[in-house]
Amino acid sequence: MVTTGQCLCGAVRYRVTAEPILTRACWCRLCQYLGAGSNTVNVCFPSNAITIEGTLSDYRSVADSGNVMHRRFCPTCGTALFSEAESRPHLIFVRAGTLDDREIAKPMVTIWTAQAPSWACLDPSVPRLEGQPPPPA
Ligand SMILES: [Zn+2]
Ligand SMILES: [Zn+2]
Repeated sequence: MVTTGQCLCGAVRYRVTAEPILTRACWCRLCQYLGAGSNTVNVCFPSNAITIEGTLSDYRSVADSGNVMHRRFCPTCGTALFSEAESRPHLIFVRAGTLDDREIAKPMVTIWTAQAPSWACLDPSVPRLEGQPPPPA
């Protein structure tokens, strides 16, 4: 399976040659900034299967768990593309809006629902977690 995607302006492009490990919708407070008020949808891949072209900026932050996070975005158009935790360098999370084929990104679970606003639209057919799920293998 080959998955491709890009930022809004096209300066950053990527190609993944692996199956998604999991897909999640995230309503954590930070994702609401990135998602312009809504959640983010993220597809997890093995990081050794992705090839990225173009220059990314990196926003580094420390999660409540103590994990150091890197959120990478296009410095030209501002599109958020990737998220990585230093503690799990074998995984990369791709922002689903950047995928050429978004159909592969239907969330398997919605996480951090406790931080969602009261008007959030949550798919009743998707399982929910109030907070952080355990990390994928
Ligand atoms: Zn761009
Ligand atoms: Zn989040």
